[in-house]
Amino acid sequence: MNKSKNIKDVVQPTKWYSELPRKQYENYTKVGVYQNWFEVYRLPHNVYAIYESGHFQEVISFLILGKEKAMLLDTGLGMGNIKLVVEDLTELPVIVVNSHCHFDHIGDNYRFDNIYIYNDEGAISRAEKGLENCEVEENLVGDSTYIPYPIGFNPANYHIKPANKITVIEDGHVFDLGDRELIVKHTPGHSPDSIMLLDEKNSILFTGDTFYPAVLYAHLESSDNVNSVFDIYLQTMKELSNTIDVKYLYCSHNYPIVKGSKLKEAAKAFIDIKNGGLEFVEDSKGLKKYTFDEFCIVTK
Ligand SMILES: [Zn+2]
Repeated sequence: MNKSKNIKDVVQPTKWYSELPRKQYENYTKVGVYQNWFEVYRLPHNVYAIYESGHFQEVISFLILGKEKAMLLDTGLGMGNIKLVVEDLTELPVIVVNSHCHFDHIGDNYRFDNIYIYNDEGAISRAEKGLENCEVEENLVGDSTYIPYPIGFNPANYHIKPANKITVIEDGHVFDLGDRELIVKHTPGHSPDSIMLLDEKNSILFTGDTFYPAVLYAHLESSDNVNSVFDIYLQTMKELSNTIDVKYLYCSHNYPIVKGSKLKEAAKAFIDIKNGGLEFVEDSKGLKKYTFDEFCIVTK
């Protein structure tokens, strides 16, 4: 029997920042804080987490080092200057990839010469047009940001600028960073263009927003049709749990590393929601939140 109780907002709890600093970060070497905004941590296997803890999304962009090149996976909120951070962390040539086209992953695309994105109509259109203030301003309301913005950032003018140039990639594309290969897995559901990157040698899956240890969004809709689709998300999770077996998931929100076995748990969670009968809470917009161990799922 479904039970629900009404709460105000299933996505952003009031005083979300009371959870900070998150304990998991004690496991990693803190490299520093850049522009009073980006916290940078050195993770195992030559990866840096560039963490924007001051904003509710707590987005994490990753700098992944190979022998010859580095990859920046996502460019963050676009409030600070992530390019300066990256230039301080590595002298290697850097290629830039978007895990998907949500605002908090593409904010600084415009600072780079070229961005690799998945071959999806909505993602291409968004990369070429950016997002206007009216499409992103709701992300700055209330207590969504709890530390001062980086110097020079004007929230009243917040928007996502277009990328200078894009290169589209398909499922199975391999990025060779020199002694480190990252294989693109198309994982639609959270958004049509979502990808993961598989680093088989190090047994790491970079999961983007398809899985992370927080509230997973299976409910998003936007005026430019970059929508979440629950049934597609479910299918993606089933396929992943049947085909991918890694030690670590490097995740794009809240804290960066969880055990690979969480993929199977997440797939089961989607299946259980589909089958019905789980408890959930519902908010004033009619969104339902289901809670599991270390993650939640929000659906319509
Ligand atoms: Zn997203």
